[in-house]
Amino acid sequence: MCIFCKIVKGEIPNRTILESEEFLCFEDINPACKIHVLIIPKEHYDSFDVIPPKIMANMTEFIHKVASKLGVRQSGYRLITNIGNHGGQEVSHLHFHLLAGEKVGRLVGKES
Ligand code: AMP
Repeated sequence: MCIFCKIVKGEIPNRTILESEEFLCFEDINPACKIHVLIIPKEHYDSFDVIPPKIMANMTEFIHKVASKLGVRQSGYRLITNIGNHGGQEVSHLHFHLLAGEKVGRLVGKES
C-alpha cells in the first residue's frame, strides 16, 4: 500500500486541513514555503494522468474549499501536480501541492 493510502487509512499520522468523503488535504511534511499542503483523492490513482475527469471536477471544488479555508484566494496560490519520472513525482498517489502564504519562486525547468 502506498504512503498516502496509509495516511487515508489513519496508519500514518497527518495534520489535516480539510476532509470530505472523497478527498483529504493535509500539511506537507517538508514545506517548501509558508503554506504547503497536499490535496489527494482518498481512492488511489497513480497520478493526474489517470484520474477520471468526473472525479477531477469534484476535486476542483474541494481545492477551492481548501483555498477558502486557508484564506488565500485573494492573495493567490500555486497548484502543482508532478506526473511520473520526468515530472519529478516521488509519491505515486495523485496529489496537488498548494503553495501559498508568500510569493513563491519562479517555476523551474531542467534539474540543475
Ligand atoms: P512529489 O515529489 O510531487 O511526489 O511530492 C511528494 C510530497 O509528499 C513531498 O513534498 C513530500 O514532502 C511529501 N510527503 C511525503 N511523505 C509525507 C507524509 N508522510 N506526510 C506529509 N507529506 C509527505
